[in-house]
Amino acid sequence: MRRRTRWTRAWIGLVALAWSAPSWAQETPAPAQTGAAPEEPAAGEVARVPETAYGADGFNGPAFEDWLLGSPFRLVPRPRAETPPRLPRGRPVEGGFAGRRLLLTFDDGPFPETTPRLLEILRSEQVPAVFFLLAARVQELAQRRQGRRVARMIVQDGHAVGNHSFSHPHLTRLEPAQWKHQIVRAHDVVRSAVGYAPTLFRPPYGSVDAAIDRYLEYRGYTRVQWTYIADEFRARTPELMVRGILEQIREREKQGRNVGGVVLLHDAHARSVECAALLIRRIRAENCTLLEAGDEDVWRFVDADSFFQPIGAPRETEALDPPRATPAEVEEARTWCATHRDELDTIRSLDRLEVDINSDDFGRAPDGGGTYERSTDDASPSP
Ligand SMILES: [Zn+2]
Repeated sequence: MRRRTRWTRAWIGLVALAWSAPSWAQETPAPAQTGAAPEEPAAGEVARVPETAYGADGFNGPAFEDWLLGSPFRLVPRPRAETPPRLPRGRPVEGGFAGRRLLLTFDDGPFPETTPRLLEILRSEQVPAVFFLLAARVQELAQRRQGRRVARMIVQDGHAVGNHSFSHPHLTRLEPAQWKHQIVRAHDVVRSAVGYAPTLFRPPYGSVDAAIDRYLEYRGYTRVQWTYIADEFRARTPELMVRGILEQIREREKQGRNVGGVVLLHDAHARSVECAALLIRRIRAENCTLLEAGDEDVWRFVDADSFFQPIGAPRETEALDPPRATPAEVEEARTWCATHRDELDTIRSLDRLEVDINSDDFGRAPDGGGTYERSTDDASPSP
């Protein structure tokens, strides 16, 4: 009991320091603990969260904070009372959405080599995004003292962080105890790294079934699929990747379906990061064309809240009022067009590239072992 009190005090002190001086917390390793810290794992060995750290429900148990304090990872979670407001449970985000809204999402990170560059781009373009973190990578990086830094940079820039499982298996090929463990363990690792409990979940390969969905809902998660993907494995240039996404948008438009939606990218590759930069500019160039044609419902890059639908809301997005661009967003688009007039032709020239989005290979790794598959979609509802 006495030990617990001392731990708790040390815990509160550490947390208070971390939050009163965020720059300190970001740059300086946490001070050495007085208690017996677990041994540093040998090189190449991944330290594991001990089973005793979990409570009876599989989430953080009483031993979790002790484990964190003594952990070689030196993660400092935000105290529970300071967690940001959670979205209530929502309907899965999938298919197309009314309005010209796009949400950028990045899976499988964080990547210390490429994520900081991506954050720089998103910051200068003022575009929010969601990062679905792979917990095994966060943990592995934490050992190299990089996991917290990169994961926290994402959060500090105002982006949302979601759970993308622990080790990226096809959840539907696992036993229930195994897939629950994947969700819960990743929840703990991500929460520890960023300081709050994630509420968005993206299943690896988009692979889910009704039981997994029920469990995610029970855990307060909103599942987020995607509407548009880039052909990251086969497209050799950012230009071809952007072209593939634009082609998918055009295709939906042609079919009279909702064009707003979620874009899936991976910040693993430098070319995918540059693809994000180019995509943002290309979509803004599209706004210039729309404004010239007198259409003021311009494209916008939005955050995850924009697609949030509480349980009980109508499922069909068509049933909701199509959210149109606000006058301020239209004005912002006009300003962008005015300052980028010289570049517009170059940015629009992407339209001349030919990409076959209906090819079976589109979006898949050449060896068939890609990290993602096509989304479930409102036109093809099978998972
Ligand atoms: Zn993935």
